Amino acid sequence: MLAPIHNPEGEVEIRRGKSDGVVDLGPLTCWAVGAVIGAALLALVALIAYQRYIMGKKPTQHLCNYCGHMVAAVSDCHHAPVKERFLHGTCTDCKKDCRLVCQRCKRPL
Ligand SMILES: [Zn+2]
Ligand SMILES: [Zn+2]
Repeated sequence: MLAPIHNPEGEVEIRRGKSDGVVDLGPLTCWAVGAVIGAALLALVALIAYQRYIMGKKPTQHLCNYCGHMVAAVSDCHHAPVKERFLHGTCTDCKKDCRLVCQRCKRPL
C-alpha cells in the first residue's frame, strides 16, 4: 500500500519541477539573462568608446622624469607630434611606430 501512494506523488512532483524549469521559466530566464548580458556588453562598449573618444580629444601631458615638467610627447625619430597609443605612438612625420620622448629634453617618457 505504501509504494503505490508514494510513487505517483513523487512522479508528479518531479514532472512539475521539470516542466516549470524547462517549459515555463526556461525561456523567460534565457531572455532575462540574455537581456542583462546584452545591456552589460552595450554599456561596456559605450564606456570604452567614450574613453577612447576623450583620450583622442585632449592632448595628453606626461610628467617627464628628467626635466620634471608636464610635457607633450613627441616621436623619438623625428621629434614630431605623435598619435599616442598604449606605451608607444605613431610618428606624424614618417607614419611609423615610434617611442614617446619628452618635448623639452628629448628623453624617453
Ligand atoms: Zn623632459
Ligand atoms: Zn618619424
